[in-house]
Amino acid sequence: MSAYVVEAPAVPTVPVEGEAAAFPVRRILCVGRNYWAHRREMGAGDDDRDPPFFFTKPADAVVPPGADPAYPPCTADLHHEIELVVAIGRPGVAVPVEAALDLVYGYAVGVDLTRRDLQAAAKAKGQPWDAAKGFDASAPISAIRRWQGPAPTGRIALSVNGEVRQDAAVADMIWNVAEIVSEASKLWALAPGDLIFTGTPEGVAALARGDRVEGEVEGVGALAFTVAA
Ligand code: MN
Repeated sequence: MSAYVVEAPAVPTVPVEGEAAAFPVRRILCVGRNYWAHRREMGAGDDDRDPPFFFTKPADAVVPPGADPAYPPCTADLHHEIELVVAIGRPGVAVPVEAALDLVYGYAVGVDLTRRDLQAAAKAKGQPWDAAKGFDASAPISAIRRWQGPAPTGRIALSVNGEVRQDAAVADMIWNVAEIVSEASKLWALAPGDLIFTGTPEGVAALARGDRVEGEVEGVGALAFTVAA
């Protein structure tokens, strides 16, 4: 006999390199405006000194490697944002920066798919970003690479149909990984299964149906998908 009145949702998962068992996704936190050059391309002035901030996507927004996300409804301006993703493996509350990397299970490569037209409309009206950011299949992700020690700092890049659109370094982030995890742990009790998308560098642009997207973070891995019809 079921303990639930409707069918219980499946636990979204992300594969882990070299492991038969998968990483269960509890929730997805995302950092906004974490690279200066991307802030400028999004219209921020040189006097912009606001710290980065968080928004969220639902756990079942993940698109595991090998799957292709559909072009989402209600947009004519779907954008790619290549991001380093932190997979949290240990719980933590108000963790100091010096201890924050102890919570990290590993890293992955993700794309924060964005309905940019809905985001612009939300910004103009002072409304929340959920429909712009947290839609179905909005978080394609690579397998997770287990990791200990200093966080990745290398090249982060994305190409569409073989043309490089985003090409920067993780080291250019305004908040580094330890600072992101520490800040997040002040706002939420972090727990195993949490994913944190750490923000995108400059070069975000529109995707069309049928586009082939390939992304990589040096030392972490790569992902590839086709935008389905
Ligand atoms: Mn983003």
